[in-house]
Amino acid sequence: MTDLTSLTLAAALDGMEKKQFSSVELTEAFIGAIDKANLHLNAYVVTTPDLARARAKQSDAKRAAGKAGPLEGAPLGIKDLFCTEGVRTTACSGVLGDFTPTYESTVTENLFRDGALMLGKLNMDEFAMGSSNETSKFGAVVSPWRRGNEEAKLTPGGSSGGSASAVSADLCLGATATDTGGSIRQPAAFTGTVGIKPTYGRCSRWGIVAFASSLDQAGPIAKTVEDSAILLQSMAGHDPKDSTSLPVETPNFRAACQRSIKGMTIGVPEEYRVDGMPPEIEALWQQGIEWAKDAGATIKPISLKHTKYALPTYYIVAPAEASSNLARYDGMRYGARVAGKDLNSVYENTRASGFGKEVQRRILIGTYVLSAGYYDAYYLRAQKVRQRIAQDFRDAFESVDAILTPATPSAAFALGEKSADPVAMYLNDIFTVTANLAGLPGLALPAATDANGLPLGLQVIGKALDEESVFAVSAALEKAANFRAKPAKWWA
Ligand code: GLN
Repeated sequence: MTDLTSLTLAAALDGMEKKQFSSVELTEAFIGAIDKANLHLNAYVVTTPDLARARAKQSDAKRAAGKAGPLEGAPLGIKDLFCTEGVRTTACSGVLGDFTPTYESTVTENLFRDGALMLGKLNMDEFAMGSSNETSKFGAVVSPWRRGNEEAKLTPGGSSGGSASAVSADLCLGATATDTGGSIRQPAAFTGTVGIKPTYGRCSRWGIVAFASSLDQAGPIAKTVEDSAILLQSMAGHDPKDSTSLPVETPNFRAACQRSIKGMTIGVPEEYRVDGMPPEIEALWQQGIEWAKDAGATIKPISLKHTKYALPTYYIVAPAEASSNLARYDGMRYGARVAGKDLNSVYENTRASGFGKEVQRRILIGTYVLSAGYYDAYYLRAQKVRQRIAQDFRDAFESVDAILTPATPSAAFALGEKSADPVAMYLNDIFTVTANLAGLPGLALPAATDANGLPLGLQVIGKALDEESVFAVSAALEKAANFRAKPAKWWA
């Protein structure tokens, strides 16, 4: 029998339905794989094998009784930003200590309702701030991918680095992730996996540790476009507990993956041809354009004029919201507390030792741009520019059905390579932050490998609430790209 861990989610669900193997067998295979790999990859910060085994048993019984849910018995990894009842949730920050929620996030609850089970909590950048997974309190995640024969450790991207590394190394069938400025799509692009950030409001944010509330969205990282559609189907849905969750029906995303893109118009924004873009990214984009044409789509050059302001806008809005959201970690309500001579010094000591350097930097920037005297010059102006960016997209979508861009400006870099230079790190997000600022769905899929054998990704951006077109275009590109590369399991 093939290694069960290398199956896609769709194939694994099918295999269980055909009684080729049970959820217990599948779950054991993943537990064994995690045991071997995690010491090397550091993808999981908590494993819950006993919980997984118990749930797998229940799933097998449900399937035998003809009561299987759409994800029955499927073992998943859960990003440590999602509150999981009775299982430690820290956002990989010291300030949360050993915080163990007494409630379940809506997204994980939806997945479990549909039969999925959890293998453990996945590593991430602290509070989802970062692009390399190096800001985690639990240490960096290592990518399973290597540059040719070099042994240098590469980043799986961030902030959902644990999710991307685990999916690409076959340590779960799929994973939850979140994306505030690219944290689903950039790690997916770096690891040859598929990640979709849906429309803002498609998934409930209830029970997800907040970073920047007007930008945060949950979504899956998976092995294929179809797998990501299956997972999003269960994750999405209106939730009265989140006032920004949209009261809309969830369409059939899996069916959308089968739609032909013949006759669709796909926009290619000139402004994404940034200075210093490596020729291989340019070539990949051109290749994507050719594939879309071959599948019957029409390509149209478009202009998204305010693109160059997106990164500075994001790095004002996101820290501003973060500084406000993170004010709640005062040593009184959650996890960690460091003693002090009076109340203020408890606050100070807890925050000074609990937050890492990058999080402190964001709190400082955010507090500064919101302070009296600077608010108009920075925060208010950034809000206005954000509206222009969203308007650019609305104008473009008058004449196109989807937009095609590269997912990242480079392939994965080595751990340590950019950690000393925050601005170099922020530049990673250049192609992804726009979709968050405009609230639009964006999907990253693997399309080619570079000269060193590392994955490179394309991004498909859609209209608000039109994930179906995003899935259709992505599935067509996936078929044409026929990306088959897998990292060697050098740890096994
Ligand atoms: N890399 C970006 C940041 O550091 C995006 C992070 C995210 O999407 N959570 O803010």
